[in-house]
Amino acid sequence: MSGVSGDGRVITTRFAPAPTGHLHIGHVVNALYVWETARRQGGRVLLRIEDHDAQRSRVEFEESILEDLAWLGFVPDAPMVRQSDRGAVYEAALQRLRAQGAIYACDCSRRDIAKAAGSGAELRYPGTCASRDLPETPDCAIRVKLPRSEERFDDVLQGPRIQVPADQCGDLLARDRKGNWTYQFAVTVDDFEQGIDLVIRGLDLLESTGRQIQLARMLGRTDPPRFMHHPLVMRTPDQKVSKSDGATGIREMRASGMRPLDVIAAARRLA
Ligand SMILES: [Zn+2]
Repeated sequence: MSGVSGDGRVITTRFAPAPTGHLHIGHVVNALYVWETARRQGGRVLLRIEDHDAQRSRVEFEESILEDLAWLGFVPDAPMVRQSDRGAVYEAALQRLRAQGAIYACDCSRRDIAKAAGSGAELRYPGTCASRDLPETPDCAIRVKLPRSEERFDDVLQGPRIQVPADQCGDLLARDRKGNWTYQFAVTVDDFEQGIDLVIRGLDLLESTGRQIQLARMLGRTDPPRFMHHPLVMRTPDQKVSKSDGATGIREMRASGMRPLDVIAAARRLA
């Protein structure tokens, strides 16, 4: 393989677990997609610990994830980064949006939003605070004004998609009322700043793609990443494997005597 993508760029992708539980077989399936795609194309894999949620992230889970990854033989091509160390980067990104007049403070509770939004597939923020001009105080959330336009992209595995983020989720939460940077904001900033040009992740995040592309453009990214959404590992047709699912935890598989290659083979059968 040539080491560059079809349009001539060298590929940089990432593996980005949240330390809110131990590594499970679904992570290993994702890691296989990430490392094998990068290796096949001569690209690089970065490792990012997505601990943006201070209330749910635990140091012991981070340690256990890193230990299991090393045991399995997944080696990143650069030193790991941790979202909790990157507050200044997110603050600088927010400042760029603030300078464009593209953010506003919001003091709505989840219940307020649910009441105003009605029933939909996803909770859509109706823009209640967009014109209230609230001061940015520590107990306010910060939202980003998304364009009303549709977003088209061509997923590597899922094909062409059209999404209208303003209708799906409304103005995007950048920081919540507890002071946490949100997943959507943090990963979009990280993918931009780290030069990620191919995002490889599970199908449950397909619906987030249009909003992340729009936010990336607002942050000044002229070449948003490409996306590859792969199927999730299912226990039953409607239940994806989760961190609390002990039988598929790498810790338990190791304790049962499985070797790294056995775990990789099990993941490969599910991929
Ligand atoms: Zn609000």
